[in-house]
Amino acid sequence: MTNVRGGATAEARMVACHECGLLLHAHRIPERYAARCPRCGATLYAKSRYSVDSAIALHVTGLVLFVIANSFPFITFKLEGRERTSTLISGVLEFIDQDLWMLAAVVFMLTIAIPLLKLLATLYVLIPVRMGRPFAKSTIVFRSVEVMRPWAMMEVFLLGVIVAYVKLLDLASLELGPSLFAFAAMIIVLAAGEAAIEPREVWNTLGPEHTGPRSADSSEGQRHTDFIDCHACGFVLFGDRPAHHVDCPRCAAPLHRRKVNSLNRTWALLISATILYIPANVYPVMTVISFGKGQPDTILSGVKELIHADMWPLALLVFFASITVPVMKIIGLSYLLISVQRGSNWRPRDRTRLYRMIEFVGRWSMIDVFMISILIALVKLGAIATIEPGVGATSFAAVVILTMIASHSFDPRLIWDRMEVGNGKP
Ligand SMILES: [Zn+2]
Ligand SMILES: [Zn+2]
Repeated sequence: MTNVRGGATAEARMVACHECGLLLHAHRIPERYAARCPRCGATLYAKSRYSVDSAIALHVTGLVLFVIANSFPFITFKLEGRERTSTLISGVLEFIDQDLWMLAAVVFMLTIAIPLLKLLATLYVLIPVRMGRPFAKSTIVFRSVEVMRPWAMMEVFLLGVIVAYVKLLDLASLELGPSLFAFAAMIIVLAAGEAAIEPREVWNTLGPEHTGPRSADSSEGQRHTDFIDCHACGFVLFGDRPAHHVDCPRCAAPLHRRKVNSLNRTWALLISATILYIPANVYPVMTVISFGKGQPDTILSGVKELIHADMWPLALLVFFASITVPVMKIIGLSYLLISVQRGSNWRPRDRTRLYRMIEFVGRWSMIDVFMISILIALVKLGAIATIEPGVGATSFAAVVILTMIASHSFDPRLIWDRMEVGNGKP
């Protein structure tokens, strides 16, 4: 890692930090290095060791594995001489069967539709870039790749599969199908494919990085009122007072100095999530019917059961993902909102770090929802053993989605804006 603040050899290129809004010179960096913002510590850009060629090859492999993962048995459940085979989409179909449309849509989008769209969109951008003539709509498509990134949750789903598998081991025998292995391989291949792409480099092949006019001594740490940077592609538009209501010249996203209505929007989403968090914990997320008797499970009783079964690591994992993370997100974001509204200048770097952490862990709370989708698809043997989804699961999925959108609506640069008022930098 290297800080971007450097000597007189600075290139003319400028970048704006997406987390604190500081304007900086962009330097050439060696392979496998990343440039970090000296003020808030955010990773600004990196230099991948791999070429566009390897990124394309890995994504094509990912596409083949995606087809395999969706075409064969995922897991087979065997109990008392009866067996039930599920595929990747079985959980979604089961939710539809139970009229739980929202859960069906959530699981379908996060585990099948968005990963596929993101994969195809990446190839749509990269292949013409490799040939040296990007398609006209490449910028808009690449923007959508960035938007889809946090919502492609294959690895979270796989962890849900593992939790479901361990839970069922006591009850029955399970057979892993070829689709499961293809799915796991696809996660690894696509993670490598994503690591091979440096978004800033791709953007720079699609269009210039910033525009003039800018003053000759346009300098690092310039006041944030002197430029606007595109939230989607990082394009920097200079000017004494850049006009509002213009679109990014590179990717056509509307340009805003800061995310629009960031504080109000984040509060609204956060309050809705907090309200829904109550039914999510009070109502059962699933009911386990075993030999005719039903046993409703809430999120917390599910954790307790894992403890009783001496599955401590799993209990801790589910407790962390389903209880600690949502609560931490609600409290952490509320604190950030209040601190910005009160104009606090206390430890901005640590508050930015807190924000980064909230953004990073948010999606892992989906483990429980995915686990339920696997359990209801597999355990469906009438009165002998059946698992049915509960209404709590819908509320819980809504909480996770709302808090994810809430943390995305918050603009961490607001933490730093106050520091620039008066005598410039802190
Ligand atoms: Zn920064
Ligand atoms: Zn843009």
